[in-house]
Amino acid sequence: MSVYDVAVIGTGGVGSAALYHLAQAGANVIGLDRFAPPHSRGSSHGDTRVIRMAYFEHPDYVPLLQQAYQGWHALEELAGKQLYFPTGVLQIGPEQGDVIAGIRQSATKHNLAIESFTASEIPRTFPGVQSPENVVGILERDAGYLLVSECIATYLTGAKQLGTTLLADTPVERWEDQGNEFVLYTTGNTVRAKQLVICGGAWAAQLITDLGVPLTILRKHLYWYANESPHYTAQSKFPVFLMETPQGIYYGFPQIDSQGVKLARHDGGEPLAHAKLHSQAEDNADQTSVENFLSRYLPRLSHQRIRHAACMYTLTPDQHFLLGTHPAHPGLHFASGLSGHGFKFASALGMALADLATTGQTSAPIGFLSATRFS
Ligand SMILES: Cc1cc2nc3c(=O)[nH]c(=O)nc-3n(C[C@H](O)[C@H](O)[C@H](O)COP(=O)(O)OP(=O)(O)OC[C@H]3O[C@@H](n4cnc5c(N)ncnc54)[C@H](O)[C@@H]3O)c2cc1C
Repeated sequence: MSVYDVAVIGTGGVGSAALYHLAQAGANVIGLDRFAPPHSRGSSHGDTRVIRMAYFEHPDYVPLLQQAYQGWHALEELAGKQLYFPTGVLQIGPEQGDVIAGIRQSATKHNLAIESFTASEIPRTFPGVQSPENVVGILERDAGYLLVSECIATYLTGAKQLGTTLLADTPVERWEDQGNEFVLYTTGNTVRAKQLVICGGAWAAQLITDLGVPLTILRKHLYWYANESPHYTAQSKFPVFLMETPQGIYYGFPQIDSQGVKLARHDGGEPLAHAKLHSQAEDNADQTSVENFLSRYLPRLSHQRIRHAACMYTLTPDQHFLLGTHPAHPGLHFASGLSGHGFKFASALGMALADLATTGQTSAPIGFLSATRFS
């Protein structure tokens, strides 16, 4: 039986990027997934994902985001079409809140271009938005959204064209580190590889059992609302937005084609004991919360809901990613616990994982995401 250079478990958001970069580096690589990505049963579906640089979550992500933006532009060249849409991202909240204070910290540290608006300037500049009192708005013009399924499909097609073996609908039941190689067990089959990359999304806790970092899975909801108002379209310069309100943190996207306006709540969510318990069932309390937000802060948007999807966040205790090489298995590299904000980084994470699996090191600025911070 042939031994691959690298096996990648999970070929969704990050795994598809890792596969492509491994194949590009000349590795003999195989990717296995329990479903057939891009699919809607994990964490990388629902059309779009926000990408922004002035990162309120922590300034240390900014150098990685700079690599991620380059990666997405390279992927657009591979795809021969636009995957990143720089609509701008408007973030609104109290000056001392997590969002605004965090953006200012990142922008100052990394000299990033942002524009500030007072509470009264927000509805004058963005007529679709009614903002809470005592807030400010920050617009980052070179930010926007990515088309998530197209990104994954492009990476997988590119990897395949470079000779990668892709096994869809093939759950890996367990793996063993035999010292000189990893053995992966699927139903009725085994795969051998010298290096292993795990990008298991919400299933990471079952795939990387001995890391000692608890992961919390949350079921999250996305809603699309019909729109006839010109104020919520990208053509009228309505940006992606995120708003920290007294009721919670909400975000949304401009209308894209006939798909309506997508809205969601970022905080909250229903804890799941296992990813297998995930379903597309609706959640009345979450929907009510989003529609109260809509009534209060997007007064010209219709309440006619045209679509719903449920998706999973996988949170680490500090809501920063887990990324790097496993301390007990030098040939095992992983990205997990992306904590509901990982897709925008997938291009950079894929490159970093490919570096680690092919050379044992990476120049990507990922040290702050090492699992050893919890030990
Ligand atoms: C509602 C929602 C909104 C979000 N919004 C944003 C946003 O605006 N911006 C942003 O940057 N991020 C956002 N995120 C987070 C981002 O989408 C995720 O962090 C990212 O997509 C996760 O990618 P992944 O590769 O870890 O997981 P996935 O794409 O889910 O991939 C994991 C893959 O592993 C496979 N797998 C699991 N177990 C096995 C096994 N045993 N054998 C084989 N295959 C297996 C699964 O089938 C799956 O395909 C959001 C997430 C959600 C849910």
